[in-house]
Amino acid sequence: MSNVAPTEVSPQQLARIAELGPLYAQSANAPAIWVDRLDSTEYENALRSIAQYPDETLSLYVHIPFCPGRCLYCACNTTVTHDTAWIDRYLDAIDQEMALAAEQLRGDHDVLQLHLAGGTPNYLNDAQLTRLTEIIERRFRIIPDTDLSIECDPRRTSAGQLDLLHALGYRRITFGVQDLDPQVQRAIGRLQSIDLIRDVYAMARETGFDAIAFDLIYGLPEQSEASFQATLDAIVDLAPDRIACFGYARTTAQGTHQFAIDAHRLPSATERQALFHRAVSTLTAAGYAWIGLDAFALDTDELAIAQEEGRLRRNCIGYTSIETDHTLGFGSGAVGDVGEFCVQNEVDINTWIARVENGELPVTHGHRVSDRDRRRRDAIEHMICNLELPAEIAAGCLDDEYSRLSSYAADGLVHVEPDRLRITASGRYFLRTLCSEHGAYFEWDRSRWHFSRSL
Ligand code: SF4
Repeated sequence: MSNVAPTEVSPQQLARIAELGPLYAQSANAPAIWVDRLDSTEYENALRSIAQYPDETLSLYVHIPFCPGRCLYCACNTTVTHDTAWIDRYLDAIDQEMALAAEQLRGDHDVLQLHLAGGTPNYLNDAQLTRLTEIIERRFRIIPDTDLSIECDPRRTSAGQLDLLHALGYRRITFGVQDLDPQVQRAIGRLQSIDLIRDVYAMARETGFDAIAFDLIYGLPEQSEASFQATLDAIVDLAPDRIACFGYARTTAQGTHQFAIDAHRLPSATERQALFHRAVSTLTAAGYAWIGLDAFALDTDELAIAQEEGRLRRNCIGYTSIETDHTLGFGSGAVGDVGEFCVQNEVDINTWIARVENGELPVTHGHRVSDRDRRRRDAIEHMICNLELPAEIAAGCLDDEYSRLSSYAADGLVHVEPDRLRITASGRYFLRTLCSEHGAYFEWDRSRWHFSRSL
């Protein structure tokens, strides 16, 4: 199931994909579902309702919205600062926010997953990284099996920092690579040589991390099929455990810095799809399983095994083989999935700090997930993780969507079976379009796990 032959997509189909729009674009627009304001009391009640079920498990997401400089393509919730005292104050507020949430939870829920992202989590100095981890351990029950992961900027990584992270318990690490071509790097304002990436990778291996992941981006200015192929070949030579390959979408609404990228230097929609197709061909040929929409994992990696066995899941943190009941987000702009709500914190850092210092849980938006939403979520997860939509999930409330999806059989994108729709090998390239048949919910669903993906 995971290694779909990419050759099944013809040039005509690639053109058709391009015609349908930027399927892999990472839109940072506020999704339509984020219309509801949510006040702290409602969120407190949602947390308190979990307290009755101590066996329910948690994932924690912690957002660190600081970077030493801004990459021109960046659509993340981050701020450029060199003010260590401000970051210390932010950590004070993280401590307070966690204390407020833990007070409502009142229980000893096991944390099965902890993920630090941003921004640049490894922009924190050693004392701050240690302090942040100690805060989390003090407020929540981190158990020996908790999966601790962190996203890192290779330009901020040192052997000493890797040793520290490993000693603190982090076992999975993701490095933002994006593209190795110097011309592309100049166009996106992010210079990092292949030698640097090799050194950092070797250090991380030597340190003993269980899984090392690289993030790549296609659709960047000055990128050509040949240059991206060279990047892919160099990455395959290193053999990281996981590789994500996201599509760049110019979203100037996220910050004027993106205007510095000349829109005329961007690949066309057809070229974008050809770039992604190169990634699929190269990585699957090198022994990586294609995971979900845009991730790849060595066949021996637990993600690939989980997909093969039908156990792959997605939550706010991304693809995972670990199933938890709730995801709690901490920090400015963090997103969570708690009880019957999906929630987002205040994005502005100072407002977020002020609300926490005022003793409030600093949520701002939320959405009460209806039964229909829950079905949509299950449907999207099945389509992305298992490449199928069982009829029983759609039955009753998603009949229209099921029927619209069935109509893609004429394009060869789905195969209609008596009890399910299966996404075909070609249809996999259209997966984003197929999922968007679930409307605004898909917008929210993809935003919740794409909020920190371009370190
Ligand atoms: S892409 Fe990553 S490192 Fe660059 S500015 Fe954005 S969050 Fe910071």
